[in-house]
Amino acid sequence: MPSANRQNLNLVGIIGYPLDHSLSPLLHNTAFRSLRLPWHYQKFEVKPKELANCLAGVRAMGMRGLSVTIPHKEKVIRFLDRVTGAAAKIGAVNTIVNENGKLVGYNTDYLGFLSPLVRLLKPAKPLSVALLGAGGAARAVLFALFSHFRVWETLIFNRNQKRAAALARWAGRVARQEMQIHILRLLDASEEMRLADMDVIVNATPLGLYPKIKQMPVTSADVFRRGQIVYDLNYNPAETRLLREARRQKARTINGLEMLLGQGREAFRLWTGREMPVHQVRTSLTTHLNHHPGPHLADEE
Ligand code: NAP
Repeated sequence: MPSANRQNLNLVGIIGYPLDHSLSPLLHNTAFRSLRLPWHYQKFEVKPKELANCLAGVRAMGMRGLSVTIPHKEKVIRFLDRVTGAAAKIGAVNTIVNENGKLVGYNTDYLGFLSPLVRLLKPAKPLSVALLGAGGAARAVLFALFSHFRVWETLIFNRNQKRAAALARWAGRVARQEMQIHILRLLDASEEMRLADMDVIVNATPLGLYPKIKQMPVTSADVFRRGQIVYDLNYNPAETRLLREARRQKARTINGLEMLLGQGREAFRLWTGREMPVHQVRTSLTTHLNHHPGPHLADEE
C-alpha cells in the first residue's frame, strides 16, 4: 500500500466533461471514511483541450490516480506511460494509477460488469448473449464476456447499424473463440424474437433511465423466460421497466449498480492496496439514489 504520509499521495479524483452527476465521489469517499483512510476523492471537470495539462499536473503533484469518464476514456491513452492489456484491447481507460511518476491506465469497467455474473454462471458453460446497444460501454461488456465465458453466439441489437457493424468487427478480432456474430435492429418486433433463445441479455442503451422510466429497449416482454439472465447497465431506477418485465417472466435480473460498485472496487484496490467495504458503499449509494432520483452519469466509472 502506498504511504499516505507523502504529500498529496492520498488525493484521487475523477476527470470528465461535463461532470455534474457523478456518483464516484460518494462511492470512494464513503469507502475512505469507513476504513478511516486519510484519502480524498475529488471531482475535476476537465475540458478536452486541457487533458494533457491535467495529466502533467497529476505527475507534478504526485496524485495517486484518477478515474476517467466521458469524453476522455479513449483520448487519455496517448498521454499515459503504459496501459494494461485489457484497456488496450477495449481501447478505453477508466482508471489511472500513478506508479512513482509513471501513469498506468487500466480498464476496471469490464471487471465491474463481470463481478455479479461470475457468481451466477460457470465459466465452462457455452453461452449465447445479446447486447442491446453498441456504444462505449458495449465494448467493455463484450470483452468481459469473451474473456471469462465460452460465448458461442453474440447478437448485437442497435439503432445505428454502422456502429453495430464496427463493434461486431472489433468483437471478431478480440473474441479468441469460435463464435457467430449477428447484427439486428433494435426495437424491431420480428428481429427481437431471437432474444428468447439467448442465455444472457444486456441492456447497454439509456432506454428506461430516469426520468424516461416507461421506456425499454424491447417492444414486448414475451422475449424473456425462466433461466435467462437479464442485465441492465442502468441503475436509476434500481429496477428499470426492462428488469421488472424480465423478473415477471421469471428471468434472473441484475442492475447496473453492481457494475458501478465492481469497477469502483477494482480502482480502490489499485490505488490503496485495500479492499473496498462494498456493503457500506452499496448502502450509501442506494440511500442517495432513493433520495435523489435525478440523472446520474453511469459510466464515469
Ligand atoms: P453511448 O456510448 O452513448 O451509447 C449509447 C447506446 O445507446 C448506443 O448504442 C445508442 O445507439 C443507444 N441509444 C441511445 N439512445 C437511444 C434511443 N433513443 N433509442 C435507441 N437506442 C439508443 O453510451 P454508453 O457509454 O455505451 O452507455 C450506455 C448505457 O450504459 C448508459 O445508460 C450508461 O449510463 C450505462 N452505463 C452504466 C455503467 C455502470 O457502471 N453501471 C457503465 C457504463 C455505462 P446508436 O448507436 O444507434 O446511437
